[in-house]
Formats: sequence, structure tokens, C-alpha cells
Amino acid sequence: EAGADSPLARPVDPADLDARLKAARRVIDLERSLRLSNEEVRALSIRDALTGIFNRVYLTERLHQELKRSQRYGHPLSVIMCDIDHFKDVNDQHGHRAGDQILKDFVNRIAGSIRIDVDWIARYGGEEFLIVLPETDLPSSYIVAERLRRLVAETPFHLKGGKFRITASFGVTSYRPVLKAERITLDQLMEQADEFLYQAKREGRNTVRGASPVGPETKGCAA
Ligand code: GH3
Ligand code: MG
Ligand code: MG
Repeated sequence: EAGADSPLARPVDPADLDARLKAARRVIDLERSLRLSNEEVRALSIRDALTGIFNRVYLTERLHQELKRSQRYGHPLSVIMCDIDHFKDVNDQHGHRAGDQILKDFVNRIAGSIRIDVDWIARYGGEEFLIVLPETDLPSSYIVAERLRRLVAETPFHLKGGKFRITASFGVTSYRPVLKAERITLDQLMEQADEFLYQAKREGRNTVRGASPVGPETKGCAA
């Protein structure tokens, strides 16, 4: 009842008991290593191999939960979509390895500047990232996006080949469930952020663009 594998008749034969205990130990060790491998596989499957941040699979899973929590408790949720400007030129001029290194440094710079254990960042595509800010309204997320924009643009990236200046564009959107009926889907939230990112690109890059709170009266506005 407590989980024995098979009964032992008394008097117990010491050699039999020893053999059974060894077999049991093998089963326990095997279970433990299987559990560890499963955990490793899970950890690897949710991370981007180059930068180590969350990948798109995890992003969708977790953002879905964040949105549900925000809707249930009526708390704001903001997302910032960002894309490095003219990144193709970096690769073309300095090589793919330099491009990879800049991507890693870019991510470290941004990840080191958001609230630990609350905000998080995921790689959405090649040089496109999503920063998720739970419990954050639109005005505050604008401030964050503008701070990140400056953090990237104002300090060059140091690589073996020299110093590189890059810029990035940012699209900000927020969900603020003022009315219970004001529900949006994950896709709508992401589309909004993407739209504003592309507005930022069209309007000169190295800039932040965003929406008023997602809802019936959504309007675009400049940061
Ligand atoms: P825009 O300002 O319009 O965003 O221009 P862009 O050049 O950044 O945009 P585009 O989408 O044309 O190019 C993205 C480039 O990002 C092309 C691709 O080679 C590069 N890229 C994507 N993923 C990686 C990666 O993992 N490593 C490196 N080195 N480059 C990458
Ligand atoms: Mg780009
Ligand atoms: Mg891109």
C-alpha cells in the first residue's frame, strides 16, 4: 500500500533482499535522471538558443496567461514590440558573427534594464523582440520604451572589430480592462503592437509609437 514493488516472505533471505534493494535503487536512479532530462528538455524548448531569452513558443503560452490574469483582476498589461533598425546592413557590412554578438548584447542591455521577476522579454523573430510589462499602464510603458530606445541608441556596442552604433524602433500597446466587456485576444494585442512598431519604422525609425488603451476608442499617438 505504501508503494512496494513486490512482497517478501519471511524469513527474508539476505541475498534476495540485497538484490531487490539494488534493483529498486536502479529504478529510482533511472526515474531521477529521466526527470532531470525532461526538465532540461523543457528548459531548452522554451529558450532561444542564441540569446538565451524566451522563444516564441513560450511567449505565446505565457502572454496568454498574463492576459487572462489582467482581464480577471482588472489590472493593466503592456507590451512593447521592438525591432532593430537596418540590421541587415550590420550583417552585410560586418558579418553574421558580429550580427549575432550585437543581438546578444542588445538583449542583455534590455533585459538588464527591466524589472527583474516582473517584466520579461522574448525573441519574437530574427531581430524582433517583445517586452512584456505586467501591471503597467500605457503612460508608464511609454516611459520604459523611450528609456530602452535611448539605452540602445546612445551607447555604442563594443565588439572585437570596433564600436557599433545601432538603433531600434518600438511599438507600445496596453490593455486596460476598465470595462469588463473590454476584452481583447492575444492576437489583437500583438497586432496592435506590431502596427505601432511599423508606424515607428515609417516615421523615421529610432522612435517609439503607441496606442491609447486597447478598446473601442483606440487611437494612434506619438510618444
Ligand atoms: P528595418 O529597419 O526595416 O527593420 O530593416 P532591417 O534590415 O533590420 O530588416 P530586415 O527584416 O530586412 O532584415 C532583418 C535582418 O536581420 C536580416 C537577417 O539577416 C538579420 N537576422 C535575423 N536573425 C538573425 C540572427 O540570428 N543573426 C544575425 N546575425 N542576423 C539575423
Ligand atoms: Mg529590423
Ligand atoms: Mg525585423
